[in-house]
Amino acid sequence: MEACVPILGLPLGEFAEAARGRGMAPPDVQRMYRAFHRGGEEPAGGLPPWVADGRRPVKDVIVDGETVKFTMSLADGLETESVVIPMRHRDGSVTRTLCVSSQVGCAMGCRFCETAQMGLMRHLSPAEIVAQLHAARFAVGDPRTGRPGFEIKNIVFMGMGEPMDNLDAVLGAIRVMTDRNAYAVAPVHVTVSTVGRTDGIRRYGEFMLQHGFHRLNLAVSLNAPNDRIRSEIMPINRAEPVAMLMEALMAFPKRPNAAICMEYVLIPGVNDAPEHCDEVCGLLKPLRCSLNVIPYNPRRGSPWPAPDEDRVKAFVDRAIANGQFCKRRGTKGRSAMAACGQLGNEHIRARRFVEPARAETVQIRVEGA
Ligand code: SF4
Repeated sequence: MEACVPILGLPLGEFAEAARGRGMAPPDVQRMYRAFHRGGEEPAGGLPPWVADGRRPVKDVIVDGETVKFTMSLADGLETESVVIPMRHRDGSVTRTLCVSSQVGCAMGCRFCETAQMGLMRHLSPAEIVAQLHAARFAVGDPRTGRPGFEIKNIVFMGMGEPMDNLDAVLGAIRVMTDRNAYAVAPVHVTVSTVGRTDGIRRYGEFMLQHGFHRLNLAVSLNAPNDRIRSEIMPINRAEPVAMLMEALMAFPKRPNAAICMEYVLIPGVNDAPEHCDEVCGLLKPLRCSLNVIPYNPRRGSPWPAPDEDRVKAFVDRAIANGQFCKRRGTKGRSAMAACGQLGNEHIRARRFVEPARAETVQIRVEGA
């Protein structure tokens, strides 16, 4: 028996190719594909039996202000976690970023990260990654309008997992997300974030040489100015130390008006001293990059507190004075535990559950913020 064709896992060209000989005329295949991805619609009577639907039930939704986190049940009972994060612009308009997971759990063991406590359970397939976007577009409640579905402008692979460890699936998902016949997310609005897997960075760079993908973005979790500190908080650094990472980044395709985003989770007493700032700025000097400072969100059982605001500001100001382009990232979603490195934690498991349809009425403060 022929295998079913995953509509969420293939761009139109490949889906249409796989649909040949299945008894549906090519224009009808195209119409069905577009309606499914662009409108969240399916033909009267449902998808044909040769199509693997791939949509997963949205299990829980947690709303914190305008940040919305949702989980979906996978066929084997595991869950994906995703976050819709609003970005308010100077002109008052709001765009939304979807943070997707590429794995269930993560094997990288970063000491500051909540997901690391789960270990790696498994990789997600391209369809399971795209299903998160489909749910955000059509199934999850928008607290502003009360209607299901968000317009999603940006996609960031910063949820659970190390994307470079599941790169084939991540690239497959990107091909669907950016397909004009599907979600048409502009590649310039897609960012893959890595702990610093150098082979993955090289392969991602090669993928970007393909037509249409040269404007994809890369973010790297740096989090330390040197090997000593980085190896302490990120085990990956023992296998792929800072010099190796910098070499891979220097070889990464350069694009006009674009910079690699270097993420730096600021942890009190670990990496936040003025000399750390000077050292990291010196390290990054040869690289065109933006230093993105993220105040640490204490994970469960964390040995470190959150940094105070003065310390964060001093670090950012010093980096700018050193000539480094530097931004402070807000902590949207901290109270929903949906901020950086905090997916998959017990607070979320103990949260109040709300139906997607009621999501707009609920404000939940879990802690902090
Ligand atoms: S920070 Fe990212 S790479 Fe590190 S353990 Fe957490 S999810 Fe994995």
